[in-house]
Amino acid sequence: MEATSDVTFVPDAEADDKWKFNKSSLMKKLRQHLASSRSRPTMAASSSSGLEVLLNTLQNGGDVESTLNVLNVLDELLSAGTDRRIQFMISKGGSEALLTALGNTARCHTPNYTILLPLLHLLAKVGHRDRQIGVKAEKIDAVLLVLDLLRQNVKNSRRAAACLWVIQVFCSSVSTAVVLGRNRGLDVVFKLISPHTTKHLRTVKAAIDAFAAMLCSKVNCQTAVAKGYISDLLKLYEDWHNNDANHENIPIRKALLHCMHRAANSSVGRDALVTEGGMRLLLQTTQTFLTLKSLESLVEPAVQLMRKCYPKVPIPLSSDKSTYSFPLPGRPVDDWGADLGPYDGCLEDDSDEDMENEDLDKDYEDDLETDVNKLQPRPEPDRPLEQLGQYMRFCPELHHDFQDLESSSEVDESSSEDSPLEGDFNKKKAHGRKSKAGQRNPLSPSGSESSNSTGIDKKHNPGSEEESHLQTRDLHTHYLNCSRNIQEGHCTMVDRLLEKYGTWIPNHDPRLYASTASDTKSIGGYSILAFPDFWGNLPPKKQEPMAKRQPHVQRKKVFEDIQRLLCTEEMINKVAFDLEDPSLQCSTEERPGSLRFFSKFESGNLRKAIQVRSHEYDLILTADVNSSEHYQWFYFEVSGMVAGVPYRFNVINCEKGNSQYNYGMQPVLYSVREALDGRPHWVRSGSEICYYRNHFCPKGRHRSHFYTLTFTVTFPHDDDVCYLAYHYPYTYSTLQTHLKMLEKSVDQRKIFFRQQNLCDTLAGNSCTLVTITACPASKAWKDLHQLRNRPCVVLTARVHPGESNASWVMKGTLEFLCSNDPVAESLREAYIFKVIPMLNPDGVINGNNRCSLSGEDLNRQWLKPDPVLSPTIYHTKGFLYYLNSIGRTPLVFCDYHGHSRKKNVFLYGCSMKETLWQSGSTINTVSLKEDPGYRTIAKTLDRIAPAFSFNNCNYLVEKSRASTARVVVWREIGVLRSYTMENTYNGCNQGIYKGLQTGTRELEEMGMKFSQSLITLSRNTIHYNSRLIHNAATLLDLDDRLLDHKSNNCSEDDEPPCAEEIQYSSCSDLFGANDLDAEVNANASSVEEDEGDAEVCKKGRRLTDRKSHLLPHFLQQDALETLGIRSGQCNNMDISNRYFY
Ligand SMILES: [Zn+2]
Repeated sequence: MEATSDVTFVPDAEADDKWKFNKSSLMKKLRQHLASSRSRPTMAASSSSGLEVLLNTLQNGGDVESTLNVLNVLDELLSAGTDRRIQFMISKGGSEALLTALGNTARCHTPNYTILLPLLHLLAKVGHRDRQIGVKAEKIDAVLLVLDLLRQNVKNSRRAAACLWVIQVFCSSVSTAVVLGRNRGLDVVFKLISPHTTKHLRTVKAAIDAFAAMLCSKVNCQTAVAKGYISDLLKLYEDWHNNDANHENIPIRKALLHCMHRAANSSVGRDALVTEGGMRLLLQTTQTFLTLKSLESLVEPAVQLMRKCYPKVPIPLSSDKSTYSFPLPGRPVDDWGADLGPYDGCLEDDSDEDMENEDLDKDYEDDLETDVNKLQPRPEPDRPLEQLGQYMRFCPELHHDFQDLESSSEVDESSSEDSPLEGDFNKKKAHGRKSKAGQRNPLSPSGSESSNSTGIDKKHNPGSEEESHLQTRDLHTHYLNCSRNIQEGHCTMVDRLLEKYGTWIPNHDPRLYASTASDTKSIGGYSILAFPDFWGNLPPKKQEPMAKRQPHVQRKKVFEDIQRLLCTEEMINKVAFDLEDPSLQCSTEERPGSLRFFSKFESGNLRKAIQVRSHEYDLILTADVNSSEHYQWFYFEVSGMVAGVPYRFNVINCEKGNSQYNYGMQPVLYSVREALDGRPHWVRSGSEICYYRNHFCPKGRHRSHFYTLTFTVTFPHDDDVCYLAYHYPYTYSTLQTHLKMLEKSVDQRKIFFRQQNLCDTLAGNSCTLVTITACPASKAWKDLHQLRNRPCVVLTARVHPGESNASWVMKGTLEFLCSNDPVAESLREAYIFKVIPMLNPDGVINGNNRCSLSGEDLNRQWLKPDPVLSPTIYHTKGFLYYLNSIGRTPLVFCDYHGHSRKKNVFLYGCSMKETLWQSGSTINTVSLKEDPGYRTIAKTLDRIAPAFSFNNCNYLVEKSRASTARVVVWREIGVLRSYTMENTYNGCNQGIYKGLQTGTRELEEMGMKFSQSLITLSRNTIHYNSRLIHNAATLLDLDDRLLDHKSNNCSEDDEPPCAEEIQYSSCSDLFGANDLDAEVNANASSVEEDEGDAEVCKKGRRLTDRKSHLLPHFLQQDALETLGIRSGQCNNMDISNRYFY
């Protein structure tokens, strides 16, 4: 390209105009020449463009000399520019002209190859860029013509190569490939693919490429299989592999792989490749060149080919359906399985707001709401007004008499003056107290009732052995059993353990946790606690950087996976854990050489673990209750390990197409031994992490895929008990414990903190609503009036149970709001906070990833929530309607979520105008009024919250999100600032946390910052408290240092392409498409063809530019001289000298 960049007459950007040659002297000369040579200058009217003149001359035929001249000029022009030039020529009928000329010349009695050869070459180059070339060739009857030319010239390798390239480009249409196949094209072409040779290499490669192109048709694939060509291809590949000792023929070997890739696009092709021993051959050959850098271009196609051919295996489960099912009120048992319908492979995105799938971009535009009526808030209850009265009790602060302002000594948890309507929750409290009063110790284990009932070791002396020899069964039996049965003695043991090792963890108390957990109702009837939840955890001292991806991890893992197919005798394939088989649930029987697994605890969701090799396990996650999908979240216990040994874990039933695990994210690990040593941390852990499509499929759904998350963990201690999770767990019992601790911690004279049961869930757990605000300064009317006029802020979280990060953010919010921080104090004085920290308790408890017990995504129920099946949503919405009906529409609503495919933290809001603009709507938005205040919080957060990214926020209303909390609360309740806050599971790519994985500390900080950002709203809404304004200013000044780090944080939404292919459905980019030009050029320029042949194959992609070599050197000279053009001679066509010599 550099040689011709100074050609000035056709800048590609303005191709159309400039093709008129700017009155180029070239055109003048060409016309003169054509006139003088008495050819027919038919269309050379002054109005037509130079190109049209050339094309017409070509089609209408002339003498050999002028045709050659035209071909040469065309080739020069096309070689000089970018593809746009060729596209322009195609748009002007260039392909048809070349095809017609080809027909005219080839149909002669004795075809003139002096013309035919350059014509074929040019046709290959142009046709390569014309998607319609096959169809056009069929119309002009040129397809079989070229096949015949090939038949006539199988002995002439240059001519054969030219024909093969044209056949290759014709096959861009499947129908053309079918025509060729039907006329024995496969046989003719395959004959030209020879075993290893040093001659006619270019032609051999052209034949392989043409053969590959013909395999785009399924019919041709079937023919190829039937005729044994697949097995022949494998033999040829092996032959070239064995004989190409010096690796001089990589392009040919790569072309053979391409052929097999094409064949593998059909199931017959894949089957043939496998049955003919293709997998073993590919694995063996590939492994021999893994160490050679020069052969890298063969490794990737070979690996992808093996993955493509790997026969699909149904996931090793008896059924896809969740292990646990829950009978839904008013529905027949097991109804949920029946209406799944045919699976279309289109999985729901992780987040309710996810939109980063590029394929969906176009649909996304269509998804934007353009109906102005639907874009304008229209508060209108979905239920009769009289039903809203029941929600009055959730505003106790409005009716509270604040007795304790006068007699604070009466403050007592048990005498809290909840309205009598709060029956359920009070009952529950009373129940808890009663059990204490009755000396029932919830920590006490129940050997006879626990799931590992066989595990009582009679010889075991818990007092002495607890330190030296930590066994899972001991841990479960003696410390982690929360069953209510009393066994004296164990209590003291736990006490001793806590005394000796306990770490002070803020707002956590193991004993309280255990007693709280005993009230939690799970479908599986869990009686064991997971140690990290019981014991508590602290963030590690240092922030953890994102994991660096090692090169070729995926390849290494895929090789290991393929070995399973080929070396079945080396596979152990022993089930180590099965939720459905009690004999395989952390049994006490020693199983040397095998890890033990367990997950029958809150939020745990391992269904099955299979030992594949001695240190490798396949893990299968449970589907959401009453569902057969939604796999992402995991949490399980593992024990019986040997320290220092790398164990590979594969979660083999993941659903999403990509994951942050490919971009530096690690799972989290908790070691009991480390916790007892005073380091109770969840740490990011695991190496050789990658996420890729595997060979498993759901049972009975062979056309869909599963993905593997693989990671390798080296445990720090022998015989430790460890926990692995997708993200920092946060259970329902953790929340309930936390709320109790918070309630105890607040100064009730200053802070009004009230927990109430919004409603019971399907499983009978309480969905808690918390009210936080400042107590009035006095009982004076003025102070009570101020309290009762504070705007409401409604915050919710964890509607999606797998999004535990949302709970950590919520924890940060709650703790901040209850703190003595002056900003928190101001916030309490400015607002009444209504917080529902866990909208989906049942989902969280039972280890679901996405849904509630009804098998439905609760965040898609907001339009018309069912009071029975989605009670928490029904009543949250009812409560919001109630606030609206008493004129207290919330100032802010925010639902906290987790996002698995993006970094940073960001908000999604709702804006009518932005949606209309973005959708390209023609509606005039000038007359539409919209308060721009919906942007304030994001602007503030961008300044004060290090993890927050303003650039990731958006305010578009999508039709597909019409039933989410954010959109419904905005539209139906009329909340201007209605948001989803998305929190990454991974980390940040901007700001001071750039390159770091997020920890619980950062998540909690985010919750604090979100609360702080609300103070900026109060500047506009509350005018009488100057201290607030002062606080807001201090807050912002304090964090001004962040501004330096955050300016210009133009983060990219989409991840850069992964170093290794994630998707391997297409193989086009594995086989460079532009090589064709180089080879055509080489074929044209080589006089001594065999030399040239050897050259191009040795050097591979040496000739990658499109520099013209269409005509032999001497002919070029002649042609140019005839046209009167010499180098550097024309004003407007300055072709540099080296172009010609
Ligand atoms: Zn979510």
